[in-house]
Amino acid sequence: TSKIRIGIAGYGNLGRGVQAAIAKNPDMELVGVYTRRDPQDLQLASPAPRFAIADLQQHTGQIDVLILCGGSKSDLPEQGPKYAALYNTVDSFDTHARIPEYFETVDVPAKAAGKTALISSGWDPGMFSINRVYGETLLPDGETYTFWGRGLSQGHSDAVRRVPGVAAGVQYTMPSQEAIDRVRAGERPALGTREKHQRECFVVLEDGADAEAVREAIVTMEHYFDQYDTTVEFIDEQTLAAEHSAMPHGGFVIRSGNTSDAQKQVIEYSLALGSNPEFTSSVLVAYARAVHRMNQAGITGAQTVYDVAPGLLSPKSAAQLRAELL
Ligand code: NDP
Repeated sequence: TSKIRIGIAGYGNLGRGVQAAIAKNPDMELVGVYTRRDPQDLQLASPAPRFAIADLQQHTGQIDVLILCGGSKSDLPEQGPKYAALYNTVDSFDTHARIPEYFETVDVPAKAAGKTALISSGWDPGMFSINRVYGETLLPDGETYTFWGRGLSQGHSDAVRRVPGVAAGVQYTMPSQEAIDRVRAGERPALGTREKHQRECFVVLEDGADAEAVREAIVTMEHYFDQYDTTVEFIDEQTLAAEHSAMPHGGFVIRSGNTSDAQKQVIEYSLALGSNPEFTSSVLVAYARAVHRMNQAGITGAQTVYDVAPGLLSPKSAAQLRAELL
């Protein structure tokens, strides 16, 4: 059988991650990286054909699944519907409140073109969403807890960098160990925002900036930090570059429930990610395989991770998976 031909639309962190993930999946091949920038200027992590994104209008016969690696804020709302009219697509749209609306805008062109468009894949939304549904369904009398971290938060890091006197900085979200221990013990506690997560900032000050004023401005920042216990550590530029350039993330989805008054059950799914974008990309690539198969089976229109059977993600055949089902 021939390889699944993958295109990458947008070459940032996810684009690089998808390229790395395809290299780990021998049933797939990367046929092109498409960018809004001048393709000749793209520094690819490893060699691959580079194209201007406009070429996607003409390459429909050459790509089985196009993985959309643009940002959720402004790229995907435009690119999702546009390319679902031309290709089978997979994306990682993560603006949670807008998912129903985004689904509709992608579903209409995909259905009209007979294409399959898997939206909002990745880990949250994505693998965490699936695990929340398993938990809620298997333990209807229960509580679901999501803890994030230790992880680099892009939004909170941006907020730190906007504080006057800050030259550079990063923010990590940390789950509270005490809260996790209580949830794992089956206590089903009601946890407030401050009890679930802490925030940790590493800041490089501008010359002459007042450290105490910067710290105060960060920890009291409305919505971002005022509801959390936040620590601020001042470091130099070299330390920032050496120790804080990776994008770790992860977390836990825990469902704690009762199947009877006497019996507690706890389900836990945990991710410890060295690189958030590389892991997200690995998930996107697995879903590209499923999307290819679903389209061949005549399932078209927008889909979410809830609509994809687990076996479709696997490079193994259904028969092989059945033989291994112990
Ligand atoms: P980036 O900012 O790295 O890339 C987004 C786009 O920006 C690229 O597709 C690229 O488009 C353009 N771009 C990238 N680098 C440059 C550059 N140096 N100069 C100019 N343009 C550039 O975003 P990420 O890849 O980190 O993340 C994309 C989205 O993934 C996020 O918005 C987030 O919503 C989502 N995500 C979802 C997760 C989930 O679990 N569901 C987890 C993590 C992320 P082009 O090549 O066309 O210029």
